Amino acid sequence: MSPDELLARLRPWRERHQRTAYVPQLGAGPSPSRFGGRPDMAEGDEWPTCAGCERPMLFVFQLDLETSPADLGTGRIQLFYCPTDDGSCETWAPFAGANEARWSQGPASSRALPGGTEMLTERSIVGWESVSEFPHPEEHEWLGLTYHYDFRANTVRIVCPELGFDESGLDIEACSAELIGLPADRDKLLGWPRFVQGMNYPGCPRCGEPLTYLFQIDSEVGTDLMFGDVGIGHIMRCEAHPDVLSFAWDCH
Ligand SMILES: [Zn+2]
Ligand SMILES: [Zn+2]
Repeated sequence: MSPDELLARLRPWRERHQRTAYVPQLGAGPSPSRFGGRPDMAEGDEWPTCAGCERPMLFVFQLDLETSPADLGTGRIQLFYCPTDDGSCETWAPFAGANEARWSQGPASSRALPGGTEMLTERSIVGWESVSEFPHPEEHEWLGLTYHYDFRANTVRIVCPELGFDESGLDIEACSAELIGLPADRDKLLGWPRFVQGMNYPGCPRCGEPLTYLFQIDSEVGTDLMFGDVGIGHIMRCEAHPDVLSFAWDCH
């Protein structure tokens, strides 16, 4: 079976799981959504401090929900991050206190950085480019698409019960899981997360349900930050508790 034929046969599955991602277009000039610079903070918003090194965090990113291209409600999503980049603070882990993703609401104004805190390069988000995406191979089995590899024969059997699809002897390179779905690895709003190490949806500390992916941040594109060795980070949010947000990254 050719790759084109495989994609044609799996089209109903791909259409069901297709999502739109919005890739930020960066530019100069003021914008309510941005990487770096200063955050807009509402009255009562405190500047977060790292639970490990106890230093004020860096301001990394702000997404204004009302002007975003998706229907995400009101307020703004922000990310702050530990400034100590030596592995002693668990910057990669959700809910470990070395990063903070938060939902800020209400009228807000630009807030000066605490003394001695580095300001990351400001890059305004001046537009969004829509791209169509399909889920990461790590998620396929969960979504009803399984692969059974025969590495000696260099073939794969792909099974999708909901389509009555069960084909053996497919070429392992040409008919790869990545052909069927591989989300973009750059900064983006929504779409599907590009996982580096494996599927990772942290559980909500309040209800235990897996959080929902919201925004992906790549190393050194919109942000100056490098996550480990060119890692990729994800902001996630609880659907039932919109004030519960997490950030986690991983790398090879
Ligand atoms: Zn720290
Ligand atoms: Zn929850």
